[in-house]
Amino acid sequence: MTVDLDTDIRRVSGVGSVGAAHLQKLGITTVGSLLYHFPRAYEFRGNVKTVASAEDGETAAFILTVTAPPSFAKARSGIMIFKVPAGDGTGACTITFFNQSYIKNTFTAGMSYRFYGKVIRRGKRVELSSPVYEPYSDKLLPLYPVYPATEGFSSVKINRLISSIIDRDDITLPEDLPEEIIKAEDLMSRTEAIRAIHHPSSLEAVSRAKKRLAFEELFLFALNARKNRKGAEHTDRAVMRGCSCDPFKKALGFEPTGAQKRVMNEIYSDLTADGTRPPMRRMVSGDVGSGKTVCAQLGAYVAAENGYQTAVMVPTEILARQHYGDFKKLFSPLGKTVVLLVSELPAKEKNAAYEAISSGECDIVIGTHALITDKVNFKNLGLVVCDEQHRFGVMQRQTLLNKGEGAHMLVMSATPIPRTLALVLFGDLDVSVIDEMPPGRRAVRTAYRDEESRDKIYDFIRSEIKAGRQAYVVCPGIEETEDDGLIPLEALSPDFSAENYGKEVNRRKAAVNYAETLSETVFSDLRVGYLHGKMKGAEKNAVMKAFERGELDILVSTTVIEVGINVPNASVMLVEDADCFGLSQLHQLRGRVGRGKYASYCILMANSPGQTAEARLKIMESENNGYKIAEFDLKQRGPGDFIRENDEKIRQHGALKLKMAGALDDASLLYRAFEWAEKYTKEG
Ligand code: ADP
Ligand code: MG
Repeated sequence: MTVDLDTDIRRVSGVGSVGAAHLQKLGITTVGSLLYHFPRAYEFRGNVKTVASAEDGETAAFILTVTAPPSFAKARSGIMIFKVPAGDGTGACTITFFNQSYIKNTFTAGMSYRFYGKVIRRGKRVELSSPVYEPYSDKLLPLYPVYPATEGFSSVKINRLISSIIDRDDITLPEDLPEEIIKAEDLMSRTEAIRAIHHPSSLEAVSRAKKRLAFEELFLFALNARKNRKGAEHTDRAVMRGCSCDPFKKALGFEPTGAQKRVMNEIYSDLTADGTRPPMRRMVSGDVGSGKTVCAQLGAYVAAENGYQTAVMVPTEILARQHYGDFKKLFSPLGKTVVLLVSELPAKEKNAAYEAISSGECDIVIGTHALITDKVNFKNLGLVVCDEQHRFGVMQRQTLLNKGEGAHMLVMSATPIPRTLALVLFGDLDVSVIDEMPPGRRAVRTAYRDEESRDKIYDFIRSEIKAGRQAYVVCPGIEETEDDGLIPLEALSPDFSAENYGKEVNRRKAAVNYAETLSETVFSDLRVGYLHGKMKGAEKNAVMKAFERGELDILVSTTVIEVGINVPNASVMLVEDADCFGLSQLHQLRGRVGRGKYASYCILMANSPGQTAEARLKIMESENNGYKIAEFDLKQRGPGDFIRENDEKIRQHGALKLKMAGALDDASLLYRAFEWAEKYTKEG
């Protein structure tokens, strides 16, 4: 029987209208969306421990034989406590349940069960408190799925629901990949993959399922983006003619870099292409400080020369005012009028701005979201620029674009992303890359060190602070996620080892404690601020503002430092357990220093990180180009990190959601998905 993926979830037995309302919160409305609701993690019940080796506080699986019928007692609080005596030959273990009177009849003495839960050890006494359990058989799956759930619809309930559909042997899912691709790429069938991702028989099976589902996602994603682009080809464009850009270049006051020239040429040809071409849809991607603004300015100049207006949308008022100042300085001598529009303006000035925009007196308007309100009417909008440092949704961009006819669009992105990846993820945009920094930028000197150098590093930080500078200390922060003993989907691969994974988690936890104590010990005489994931927004802001104003010497942060922070006086950054971070992430972090006139340093601490990790850190020492780093990262670790880090951006970008591709560790799959999509777009 073929499963109809479009069947309304309410028609699945056991859901009902209340259940459906809960499931809707998870985005589950049909059988298809239920089957594509993937586990976020797995309980690794294949990690079977013996009672003798069980450690206090760990979560693990045990295969135990019940040795006697359960006993029960009533606690003074009125709670019923059931105790099931059990053991495995290495020792005895008591299983405890509370208020679950059905336990009386659940276990049979002499039978074996697999238990999974948290260990409580007091000397020789070992206890498992309210574990999950199932009668033991050698067919038990090692991985038990844990789903994103919601109040009213637990992970267990979701699992039961999915099982009711996929556990039947006679069902199949309609295949959505061409047979040719499945063969060539050696992929699981859709049915096999969906079964394996929910109920994997082995680590190998999850890996194969991940591969197939990620491929499917990327292929359809790329295909969709290509098709959208084809649709856009039928839109009329704001027609612009070629013009001399010499006055603009003279007014700039500096010589653009080779990369800037190339990108400016691309924009110029896009804008002045003949009227049959679709309007420009281009992303300019370049590291912070690479000089993206001039490229947008060139576009604005060409538009103004052709009698068109340009709207530059930026995420914050501060940035808008900054850009406004820069644009005005450049464009006023060129005879172009620049206007500022932010919601914080006094009513009178705001009205004057609206007036200038609608009359056409304004050539270029710089603003925030205030630009997309109904009050803004353009005389002749020809170019929209979105400075995406904090990103805008597709809808917001579209609203602004709709204020003109056939308006062109430039999107600026400060995340270095490998070109091949950008082609897939932003398939409906052309991508220009500024992979070169303006001259005179001092690279952040980066050094990889281990524990032996710790005292020296502290001394160095202290000496920078004595000289008037400020410092960042960054630790990999996982304190938001409690250690629940679960293995996240993306961590699973055929060579996964529960033991190593456990070590990794413990190591990161230690780093968090270190961050907390640093301010009380080594640097107790300095002004140290502390940021962590559990702080409220306002609290976080206050600490960041204090650091910006120079009221703090050191900012210790367990989470990634907010991208918005800009402290030119900060000259040194210490990254603890640097091998826990992706290279691109390290590069982004490092970009927080070296923003002023001071020589700047980044110290990457890692202790016996292993060979691959060490090679990665060495790259950070020798390479300052974000694109080269990103390419290296992509080859070595696959696209997962990029996709996860850009999750929001991507989600806003395409109609499809990338749920599985973020768990991918194979970069070549990405290229191939893209190539196949290209092939299938051409064929129709
Ligand atoms: P971003 O890519 O982060 O938006 P900006 O466009 O703001 O970078 O440029 C950063 C700074 O570098 C600005 O002050 C700008 O004037 C300057 N700049 C840009 N290009 C050049 C260049 N080719 N030579 C010298 N300075 C430049
Ligand atoms: Mg910028």
